[in-house]
Amino acid sequence: MAYRAGAQIANMEFIQFHPTCLFHPEAKAFLISEALRGEGGVLKLKSGETFMEKYHPMKSLAPRDVVARAIDNELKKTGDEYVLLDISHRQKDFIINRFPNIFKKCLQYGIDMTKEPIPVAPAAHYFCGGVVVNPFGETNIPGLFASGEVSCTGLHGANRLASNSLLSASFMRTEHSSGFRDFFLK
Ligand SMILES: Cc1cc2nc3c(=O)[nH]c(=O)nc-3n(C[C@H](O)[C@H](O)[C@H](O)COP(=O)(O)OP(=O)(O)OC[C@H]3O[C@@H](n4cnc5c(N)ncnc54)[C@H](O)[C@@H]3O)c2cc1C
Repeated sequence: MAYRAGAQIANMEFIQFHPTCLFHPEAKAFLISEALRGEGGVLKLKSGETFMEKYHPMKSLAPRDVVARAIDNELKKTGDEYVLLDISHRQKDFIINRFPNIFKKCLQYGIDMTKEPIPVAPAAHYFCGGVVVNPFGETNIPGLFASGEVSCTGLHGANRLASNSLLSASFMRTEHSSGFRDFFLK
């Protein structure tokens, strides 16, 4: 809508993909936290073979964008729809206490992550681009403001880091005559 109204838009091709979204026909965009890989979860193909060692020295602990691209590449090569994220080698109690929500959600879909790997695939997660704004949320159209994920402040570049989407919140201030605003813009 902002584009149609003549607002300046930027970086719309910079769509961040989360590497590990639960793959299940009934699950709607449920993310399997990256903390799971932090606690020893290993990415595998359906055959059980690991593959991240081909892409990054940190293997399954590689950064989000590297892992998402690696999975996408493997899925294209194998023709599979998902890969597996396996933490079943850790103690059952540890898994349940550390990831209670993921455990419950997976079980709801018939996957017991304490005994078997979780099917996952990358999923569109965050738009780094959007409606171009200045630090006050102002667009190039007088009176039209944008803040949050819809905006493009440029702070995230092409690939947002995890857990910092608040950076897209602009300092909203509508008093154009504000001395602070003038000082900031200078
Ligand atoms: C699954 C998931 C997990 C995430 N986890 C994290 C995380 O751990 N840490 C982190 O920092 N970020 C995370 N993010 C990103 C972060 O949650 C979002 O960037 C942030 O919530 C966006 O907030 P927002 O208010 O800008 O937009 P939204 O929350 O999308 O709000 C926009 C609102 O506008 C409404 N709307 C749309 N069109 C219209 C219309 N025409 N008229 C009226 N209303 C309309 C929508 O219904 C919605 O309520 C995650 C995102 C997803 C999808």
